[in-house]
Amino acid sequence: MRQKQYRVVLSYIVKQDSAIYALRVISSDCIAPAGPECYKIHMAISSIDELSQYIELSNSERKWNPEGESTLPILISDHLIPMLNNPAIRKQFVPDAAENEDRECTLDPQMEREHQGTSRLIHRYRNRAAFITTDRCFSYCRHCFRRRIAGSELGAADDKAITEAAAYVASHPEIKEILLTGGDMFTLSDERINQLLSAFREKCPSVILRLCTRAAAVYPERFTDNLMEIIRKNLRKGAPFYLMTQFNHPDELTDDAIEAVARFVDIGIPAMNQSVLLKGVNDDAAILEKLSEKLLLARIKPYYLFQGDPVRGTGHLRTTVSEGLKIEKELRKRVSGLGMPQYTIDLPQGGGKVILTHSYLVCIDEKRDKYVFETPDGETRTYPD
Ligand code: SF4
Repeated sequence: MRQKQYRVVLSYIVKQDSAIYALRVISSDCIAPAGPECYKIHMAISSIDELSQYIELSNSERKWNPEGESTLPILISDHLIPMLNNPAIRKQFVPDAAENEDRECTLDPQMEREHQGTSRLIHRYRNRAAFITTDRCFSYCRHCFRRRIAGSELGAADDKAITEAAAYVASHPEIKEILLTGGDMFTLSDERINQLLSAFREKCPSVILRLCTRAAAVYPERFTDNLMEIIRKNLRKGAPFYLMTQFNHPDELTDDAIEAVARFVDIGIPAMNQSVLLKGVNDDAAILEKLSEKLLLARIKPYYLFQGDPVRGTGHLRTTVSEGLKIEKELRKRVSGLGMPQYTIDLPQGGGKVILTHSYLVCIDEKRDKYVFETPDGETRTYPD
């Protein structure tokens, strides 16, 4: 693991009733509001002034207003700092004034607030539910679709919220999977993670737990021996765990990131990757091909490639659907079925997820009882009905 070499300063921002307050604390050994429920995070950049000490900011980046309505705080982990001159990393983590100027969409296009089973449990799909473990992340992604939650004042789930959610799931046998999400569940302390996993294991042992995290990409050192022992211990008590990662660009798969994911796979937890199609980051079939190759070598299945949700403040990072479909068609030519993620759109107003793909069916010749297809290479083939 890398040696720490940065200053130790805490500066974080919380949103409260739409107003934003900036707090600044100097700490000797951590830079997060650590308590019994939170993991201590080391050095991170948490203001534009700090950021300007590491990279030369463009006018647009400098003009970003942290108090703007549709933005979220800046937080960039020390793992990412050496990578900030990489345009793909920079676009994902360095804020831009375009966030403040985007006023077209809502902050909750999926209308998650209308599907709350308990205070922190979103039950939008019949057979699965999402538990909001915390608002905190190791770094805030500028494309975050949960920016109404990430970096807010919500805080970590307490005993009551965990117990309430586990009881709700136990009384809804139609729920087969729980997504432990946020924020990033691994910003919780080891003790709170143990409590969380144990509660769901005890009340609903046959429900699959999806451990959703960006930490492998942005703070891989989080997966310590102690944490992995807690996960392993709870894993043995019921249905499988799945690790749900988010890598959007092949350069995020550093040696440390790959090693972090391997710790899960080695104890029998499959790893699946959910990418977001992002303008200027990965909106190119060659980049996605490389990403798929690296994911498979790291034993991570490319699972989803999401069309960006129409969340206010993220418009400058979204591609058009027609562009996404072109990329999907080209990618399908380049990678195997194993390496192909599903290009997916999460329809607004809780419409659900639908798969987007180029249609290879050209027409149905009903008189001659045959289907006419376009091959991936652009030729024509017929198939008898
Ligand atoms: S880690 Fe996830 S929840 Fe946190 S900012 Fe990134 S996308 Fe949003």
